[in-house]
Amino acid sequence: MTLPVSSLQISGLNAWYGPAHILSDVAFDVGAGEVVALLGRNGAGKSTTLRAIMGLVPRRTGTVVFAGEDISALPPYAIARRGLGYVPEDRRIFTELTVEENLEVGRQPPRPGVATWRPEQLYALFPNLGEMRRRQGGRMSGGEQQMLTIARTLMGNPSLVLLDEPSEGLAPRIVEQMADAILAMRQQGLSVLLSEQNLHFARLIANRVHIIEKGRIRFSGTLAELEAQPDVRDAYLAV
Ligand code: ADP
Ligand code: MG
Repeated sequence: MTLPVSSLQISGLNAWYGPAHILSDVAFDVGAGEVVALLGRNGAGKSTTLRAIMGLVPRRTGTVVFAGEDISALPPYAIARRGLGYVPEDRRIFTELTVEENLEVGRQPPRPGVATWRPEQLYALFPNLGEMRRRQGGRMSGGEQQMLTIARTLMGNPSLVLLDEPSEGLAPRIVEQMADAILAMRQQGLSVLLSEQNLHFARLIANRVHIIEKGRIRFSGTLAELEAQPDVRDAYLAV
């Protein structure tokens, strides 16, 4: 049996910062071509989950299977090379480089069976970036920098991307552009796992949601299933 190239399966994931046990037996999956939201309040463990998947948390146990292969013991660069893209919550663009140059930094060879992204397609996906190709990263707004970070990650032709709070701090008009871009990424066959604090953005794009609180998964299901349980929503999410 061949597994879909973009699937991610997490089981028994535990993570620690020093003596603090942050993630407890986190388990969930992202199917091929799905947009899945990891929802939870500030401090719930969303970023730690994404970092643990990428091998960026020093002390961690559990299993992470990506595209049918166990990547739990691999270092972060090897995980990225397999086509797992990661956009951390602090936007790490090169402020001295232009938009075009930032994109070139992310360029990787085409990957069989996965959409290949070129700057022109990324400018279509994020029209703001297309209008400022020669601008230095440091002279862009926070929302534009957020888009550039995602676009640069797509230059690596990932089959699945982890987006840590892509809507955080964006103006309402930019939030809609971000949602449209994520839906367009899915149309190109990408799978997306994004973290998010509230339901509004997830409603625009997600097929399924997982809710994390105090490092444990408290709910997994479709958005419709979550909407039918307002007590769950009120207990674990910011309103
Ligand atoms: P979220 O992304 O959901 O806001 P985080 O994964 O960043 O949550 O944090 C989960 C918990 O881990 C919080 O209690 C936070 O204070 C703690 N934490 C996060 N990063 C570190 C770190 N580098 N060292 C120690 N504790 C941390
Ligand atoms: Mg976070």
